[in-house]
Amino acid sequence: MPLLDNHIAVVTGAGSGIGRAIAAGYAKEGARVVLLDVNGEAAAAAAKEIRAAGGRAESFALDVTKRGDCVAMAKQVAAEVGPVTILVNNAGIARRNGMLGADDAVINDWEDIISINLTGVFNVTHAFLAPLRANRGRIVNIGSIQSFVHLRTPSSPAYTASKHGVLGFTKALAAELGKDGVRVNAIGPGFIETPLNERVRASNPDLVKVFMDHTPLGRPGKPEDIVGPAIFLASDLSAYVSGSIVMVDGGYRTI
Ligand code: NAP
Repeated sequence: MPLLDNHIAVVTGAGSGIGRAIAAGYAKEGARVVLLDVNGEAAAAAAKEIRAAGGRAESFALDVTKRGDCVAMAKQVAAEVGPVTILVNNAGIARRNGMLGADDAVINDWEDIISINLTGVFNVTHAFLAPLRANRGRIVNIGSIQSFVHLRTPSSPAYTASKHGVLGFTKALAAELGKDGVRVNAIGPGFIETPLNERVRASNPDLVKVFMDHTPLGRPGKPEDIVGPAIFLASDLSAYVSGSIVMVDGGYRTI
């Protein structure tokens, strides 16, 4: 029996990288998936691929920073698809400017990164809370190594703050929603090859080497590496797991 039969799963940022892989993985486990992305065309292409493989998938354009749009989307999904039982807050951006750059850039980074990576998680969770509470739902938030540390490579304080925030939000929500049977967990990916870091990989092999020198498994991750842990946290396999973060980082934090 597939692990996510009878579930409806919403995945944000599902048009690319990790979110796209999770949506496809959930569909293979029997879930009906709703792919949301600011890039509606990318989400539609990913949903089409899932349907072509025999899965059930719908897609809609959604910018997670727009609170009103998130509320409207939750209503639309309830009406057109059904009650959501799994939410994956995956949409995110990363930039590598420190605090000492030009004021405009530093301030822009703070506003963009916090509004997408942290407030976006709040917006979507808040919008879908009713069906999740009514159906003993599962929430999976995508954190990072930077939910714990600042990196040994250039990285923005805003990104680190946003991912620490995602972990804090995960724990607070797990504590509050446990009485409704809602489980809330996070995944902490290490260096995963996706479009998010495509330019850095192409232009800065030294930076990639720093990551690999601190990755005992000795290779970068692939989006597919996140899928198993994401299925685990959304399924009954993790029935007594809440408020946790599963690191999927090749062992990065051991060195
Ligand atoms: P990705 O390939 O760039 O995918 C992210 C998706 O989110 C893109 O389709 C992007 O659209 C979308 N998005 C951006 N802003 C959005 C918004 N306001 N509303 C809705 N969707 C939005 O990146 P990824 O590597 O898969 O990253 C997914 C998550 O994993 C992020 O939260 C990231 O921080 C986290 N993560 C990634 C790594 C890694 O090494 N890749 C490591 C740790 C954590 P556009 O492309 O149009 O912007």
